[in-house]
Amino acid sequence: MKKQWDEKYSSATDNNFIAKYSASCYCCAVQYEVKADPVDAKVCHCLACQKLHGAPMQWAAIFHKNDVRIIQGMEHLHFYNTELNRHERILPCKVSCNLCGTLIADEGRNMWLAFPSLFDFEGRVVPEKFKPTCHIFYGVRVMDMNDNLPKWSGHKDKSFREF
Ligand SMILES: [Zn+2]
Ligand SMILES: [Zn+2]
Repeated sequence: MKKQWDEKYSSATDNNFIAKYSASCYCCAVQYEVKADPVDAKVCHCLACQKLHGAPMQWAAIFHKNDVRIIQGMEHLHFYNTELNRHERILPCKVSCNLCGTLIADEGRNMWLAFPSLFDFEGRVVPEKFKPTCHIFYGVRVMDMNDNLPKWSGHKDKSFREF
């Protein structure tokens, strides 16, 4: 099968890459950096996220893949295509650390949906651009959210807006 994606990660040796934020898995075997702010951030309440993350919801910040570079542990990346139930890098897929099991990102063809909990923010302050702009798949939530963000029953702009 032909695998193809438009954007790639930046190279770990790219001298033009000026890291803005860094992230790591729980055991620190996998470390990566991003050179830009996320283009958006969302909280997803879908059933797949609930199971895969073992959590009531998933918080994702979206980056262009070429704004991302893996600086350590490329060999420890595990890829899982949930739709096909195949442990291969068939995009879109889940990326995790094969040593500690931390879910690192959802990798799409062009975008990298990072999980901000893995970032080491200065002073533990979450930058404004990482803050969620909406809740998606709120229709299947297990927990109500008491905030002023838009809440979509399914995908953003393509489903019923509940609140
Ligand atoms: Zn790890
Ligand atoms: Zn989801």
